[in-house]
Formats: sequence, structure tokens, C-alpha cells
Amino acid sequence: MSVLIFIDHSDGAIKKASLEAISYGAKIAEQLGTTAEGALLGNIHEDIASLGKYGVKKIYHVSDAALDHPDPQVFTDIIAQIAEKSGAKLIVFSNNLHGKAIAPRVSAKLKAGLVAGAVALPDTSNGFIVKKNVFSGKAFAFIAINTDIKIISLNPNVFPVSVSADASAEVVPFAATIGEPRIKVSAVNKVTGEIPLGEAEIVVSGGRGLKGPENWKILEDLAAALGAATACSRPVADADWRPHHEHVGQTGLAIAPNLYIAIGISGAIQHLAGVNRSKVIAVINKDPEAPFFKAADYGIVGDAFEVVPKLTEAVKALKG
Ligand SMILES: Cc1cc2nc3c(=O)[nH]c(=O)nc-3n(C[C@H](O)[C@H](O)[C@H](O)COP(=O)(O)OP(=O)(O)OC[C@H]3O[C@@H](n4cnc5c(N)ncnc54)[C@H](O)[C@@H]3O)c2cc1C
Repeated sequence: MSVLIFIDHSDGAIKKASLEAISYGAKIAEQLGTTAEGALLGNIHEDIASLGKYGVKKIYHVSDAALDHPDPQVFTDIIAQIAEKSGAKLIVFSNNLHGKAIAPRVSAKLKAGLVAGAVALPDTSNGFIVKKNVFSGKAFAFIAINTDIKIISLNPNVFPVSVSADASAEVVPFAATIGEPRIKVSAVNKVTGEIPLGEAEIVVSGGRGLKGPENWKILEDLAAALGAATACSRPVADADWRPHHEHVGQTGLAIAPNLYIAIGISGAIQHLAGVNRSKVIAVINKDPEAPFFKAADYGIVGDAFEVVPKLTEAVKALKG
């Protein structure tokens, strides 16, 4: 019995969330007294064996170039084949875009219990109990998985990447039966030159309090000084002040950066649902009664147009 971790990548680079999933799966394997193995579909730029430093002992590699862009149905079939070959009793995914599409399908195919969005190592002292957020992060649920094969998808940014020097994984080429894709990706339009929001350590986010798209420069300057990604509230994206991929919240992206700075955002529950897993929340709002202050670790009551440029200068002075 081993732990199998799905190693996710994009444009040949392993995603940070995937490194977290590998470290997490390796830790569970250690906890269970078994080994951690990886499933890598498609090709990456780096030496696959070097991923051993994150704790995987063996990596099943399907090197078909057709797999460089994930098709959830095709990937599901292949991961099921690898799980059978490896005898895995636990399969770990990141609860990111690809993990959300593939893990439930693998769960259905293997009749394996799935907990999506785990936030901690499972408790294996008496059964197999996984902790996850529920009710938009307002409570925790502890869910027992009772099936023979178990699946966990790990929320990004909750488990640290751990590296052990000099470890190398055995790479095992895997001759998978690759099914016909039932969907065709005709174009991939990538956002370039920006820090991907889902992976950012710091996020600077703006709301309707910024009055219009022409005022976003102050927010972008702060983000640039901090090395942060930018985000926005839903009305801002709906009004086309900012692109929709920046919209965070219940109906947008759910993020968990180390620092979330909310500028001119009221803090409606639907917005908080997407950001309340942030480790530290700082709010800038001119209304001291804005609900966001209740969820904030730090708050500045003031006009964003005065506060933000001063903050940017202070950050630059600190860094310079
Ligand atoms: C089903 C449903 C789903 C939704 N999903 C989402 C979602 O995913 N994400 C989301 O964000 N919203 C979502 N909403 C909308 C949500 O309810 C709020 O309406 C929205 O979050 C408000 O956006 P806002 O805070 O930018 O604007 P507002 O509520 O208008 O708040 C603007 C804030 O800016 C402050 N302000 C004004 N001027 C300044 C200044 N000069 N300096 C500093 N502060 C200033 C004000 O005091 C105010 O607090 C959803 C709503 C519904 C019904």
C-alpha cells in the first residue's frame, strides 16, 4: 500500500500547489509507514528524478506529448491505471483547477471516498479522518473516509513545501492506455507578466471604493512594490473595470495568500467567502463601520487615495 500523488504542471513547470501536495502526501506516507509515489502525465522542463527531494520515492511517468494539456477524462483513466499498478490506497491531489476537475472523476471511477479541500494532515490514529473548511471557511468539518481507496485534495497554501537535500526519485516510464479525448482545446490564452492570483503570497485587491478603472494605478503601484498579485471585488469585474480572472469571492476565485490587502472593499459575506482563508488580512476603508474590519487583522480607516500612495512609498523605502 502506497500513497500516490498527482503531480500537476503547466507549461512544463511544476505548480507550487503541486509541490505542496507532494510534501503533504509524503508526510502522510511517513505517518502511515509506507512510501510516497508520484504520477506525472506529460512532460516537464526539470529533471523528473529531482522531484524526489520533496519526498516521493518513485514517479510513474507517462511521457506522451498529448498529455501536456490536461483533459480531465483522459487523465482520470490514466491515474486509475497507475493507482491499480502501484496498489495505492491513498491518492492525493491539489485542490486547484486541475485537481478539482480530476479528483472527483477518479473518486467515482475507483469508488473511492474523497475529501476535497483538506486543510491539515489526516488523523490516522483511529480510522482516517480529514479536516476541511465548510460554510465558506466559517467552520471546520472532520470527515472519516471509510473506503478501501481514499482520495484527498489539499487546499493550496495550507501545507508548506518541504525539501530534503540530495534525494532522487526512481522514474518509471508507464505505458498507459490513453483514451480519445472527448473535448478539444482550440486555444489557450494565457495571462502573461502577472503573478498568478491563485499562487500569490501577497494579494492587493480593490473594490468599488476606488471609483473607476482609471484609479487602479495606485493599487498596481502598491502591488508592484510588494511583489503582489492584484484582485478585485465582483462589481468591479462586472463593470469591466478589471478582468474577470481577478474577481475573488463566492462566485469568483477562492484564494489563501499569506497577506490579503483589501482597498475600498466593504467586506460583503460573498467577498469574504473567497478570501477568509488568507493568513493575514489588512483593510483600507474610509468607513470605520465597514464590515471588512471585523474580519481584518489590521485596518486603516482612511481615504484610499491618500493612504495607498503613502503605503507604497513606505514599502519602497523599506525595501530600498
Ligand atoms: C449570489 C451573490 C454572489 C456574489 N459573489 C460575490 C463575489 O464572489 N465576490 C464579491 O466581491 N462580491 C460578490 N457578491 C457581491 C457582494 O454582495 C457585494 O455587493 C460586493 O462584494 C461589494 O463590492 P465592493 O465592496 O467592491 O463595493 P461596495 O459594497 O460598494 O463597497 C465599497 C467600499 O469602499 C469604501 N470606500 C469608498 N470610497 C473609499 C475611499 N476613497 N477610500 C477607502 N474606501 C472607500 C466604502 O466605504 C465601501 O465600504 C455577490 C453577491 C451575490 C448576491
